[in-house]
Amino acid sequence: MNRRIYFDNASTTPLHEEVKIAIKEVMENHFGNPSSIHFHGRRARTIVEQSRKTIAKLLNASVGEIFFTSSATEANNMILKSLVFESGIKRIISSPTEHHCVLHSLEWIRQMGMAEVTYLPVTKSGHPDLDVLESMLKENNTPTLVSLMYGNNEIGTMLDIENTARICRLYGVLFHSDAVQAIGKIPIDLQKTTVDYLSASAHKFHGPKGTGFVYIRQESMVKPFIHGGAQERNMRAGTENTYGIVGMAKALEMAIQNLEQNNRHLEYLKSIFKQKLIAKIKDIQFNGDQKNNSLPHILSVSFPPHRNGDLLIMNLDIAGISASSGSACASGVESDSHVLQAIGHDSTRKTIRFSFSVYNTPEEIEDVAEKLAELTQETS
Ligand code: PLP
Repeated sequence: MNRRIYFDNASTTPLHEEVKIAIKEVMENHFGNPSSIHFHGRRARTIVEQSRKTIAKLLNASVGEIFFTSSATEANNMILKSLVFESGIKRIISSPTEHHCVLHSLEWIRQMGMAEVTYLPVTKSGHPDLDVLESMLKENNTPTLVSLMYGNNEIGTMLDIENTARICRLYGVLFHSDAVQAIGKIPIDLQKTTVDYLSASAHKFHGPKGTGFVYIRQESMVKPFIHGGAQERNMRAGTENTYGIVGMAKALEMAIQNLEQNNRHLEYLKSIFKQKLIAKIKDIQFNGDQKNNSLPHILSVSFPPHRNGDLLIMNLDIAGISASSGSACASGVESDSHVLQAIGHDSTRKTIRFSFSVYNTPEEIEDVAEKLAELTQETS
């Protein structure tokens, strides 16, 4: 194999060419500060607001409900912390399989004594138990936020978001969902799905890094979390990242316009990869929901115990294949990730997360499956 294969698209994705062009245009022609009232400022303001309009329309939200942030990490911190600091939330119900930016924020909130934090049990395939959620909400009426991710970044399991939103509405509690891995892959209509807060990150859908947004439902507004200037209608101070925002809007537009076609491709790659691995490697297993409730681009593979199991990721890298042993933030840690531990994964088996994009091909699938068979069957 004399080319590199990138199967780590849940970590980050390459920029689409059209996104690069859109960003370059801003860099060359719109350097103004969107807060300035003169010509240059007004031009920059216009492109920021156009981008907001594009994103709002794609999600069937209103423009006043989209706020730009530096990342999904910031968006998640903003919602969780602002609600307990400023809006009287006294209890947060979440799950142990959330991304670290949610889990570590919750741990900090708990340590500060700001709110009670409870984690729902999860099934073997990674679904939080919604019956337990319902009984907890039924039991007491403490002001509560439910924070459950839309799609898991390590094992791909997707939340039953409609049912979760229904339960939250029924008991009058707020609902936040980290939608980082789902946005641009799963159709989202915010008029139909009654989530109060949703976070997203451009670099997961072929947009630029360091740019994200948070959707805040009109009737569930929060107080600012970062203080300073009056940007983002006083909600998020700091000069807007005009290049990033324009690139993100372009990337989301492309993702959603081509969603069905892209998903067909991703599902195809995932299914042939699974078939080939089953055919070539004895006792191979897959983590997460293997039915319909799974993100199209993520396949978490659990390999049978092997002498060189710990070296698998490194040997793949040497062979020109980039994949991940968990979420990128946890890479390099040799024990099972918090997500694998939560679903009761057998830690003697080595897990690798493969994640695809529209740029991957069936030939790459064949090559990687072949290489994996070779690496896991070597005896000396
Ligand atoms: N949430 C999930 C589910 C993610 O996969 C990631 C990135 O890995 C994040 C949050 C953090 O996003 P960002 O890189 O924009 O901070």
